[in-house]
Amino acid sequence: MVYDGPILDNHFHLNRKGLYLEAARSFQRVGGTDLVLVHCPDFSAPPETLEGHRTAYADTLDMAQSVRDEVGLGVRVVLGPHPAAFAHQFERWVSEDGEAGKERAIENYRHSIEAALDFVHEGQAHAIGEVGRPHWPVSDEIWDLSNELLDETMHLAAQEGLPLQLHVEGESEDTYPDLAQRALRQGMDLRKLVRHYSPPDVRDAHTHGLTPSVLCGKGALETLIETHRMAKNGFFLETDYMDDPRRPGAVLGPKTVPKRTQQLLAAGVDEDIMWNTHSALPTFVYGE
Ligand SMILES: [Zn+2]
Repeated sequence: MVYDGPILDNHFHLNRKGLYLEAARSFQRVGGTDLVLVHCPDFSAPPETLEGHRTAYADTLDMAQSVRDEVGLGVRVVLGPHPAAFAHQFERWVSEDGEAGKERAIENYRHSIEAALDFVHEGQAHAIGEVGRPHWPVSDEIWDLSNELLDETMHLAAQEGLPLQLHVEGESEDTYPDLAQRALRQGMDLRKLVRHYSPPDVRDAHTHGLTPSVLCGKGALETLIETHRMAKNGFFLETDYMDDPRRPGAVLGPKTVPKRTQQLLAAGVDEDIMWNTHSALPTFVYGE
């Protein structure tokens, strides 16, 4: 049996210097229909002003439009301050300017959210992300500040009814429960809290009500097949395709989600569940 419904990759980056539209075409050639394009900052020089954030986001929106017009895929867009870029900026500014540097970093984070929210209000972007916490060991000061700003963003998401795509530290026992508790405290609908780069155990008992977006390397299939029936709200599939010309083979390629979808079906996963992953869940979380 071959699945011929929609196929969505929930976390995909594009780079004009990478394969760019060719990457979208490879995805489409094997059955892909929809991308969630996530903004990727220029890590060597992330924006430092409100206007800088706007300009950087506008380029991602422009790439999304080209994929729609020239390739014919459905594209939803996620904009926001990548936690890695932000934490590095924070470390640098604090070491240079102390308290003033900290204030500057907070203000810049808020500007990056504000600029993203404007594009959401205009109907051009569909979620804020990737936001979260550094995925490498940092000082307590940076950890605490990252959490404070994450709480603030969750509060905003709750008020606006917005989805968030989270990028957090690697797997620890506390990660899901801590995120769920923070989001509930801010009044968020946990189903709209999407954990990018999620491990393949999608049981509710494990995810605590968040929506997992499973990074679908080959090794993820077995656990996903074992646990998928115990995910009440369902799950996304993603590659985190980087389109990085310097590391072309470093991550999962653009064809991976369509390929895994067929493999899941062949392994006995219901067509209805794949329909939820690729169509009903994205519509619920991000809107049409
Ligand atoms: Zn990413």
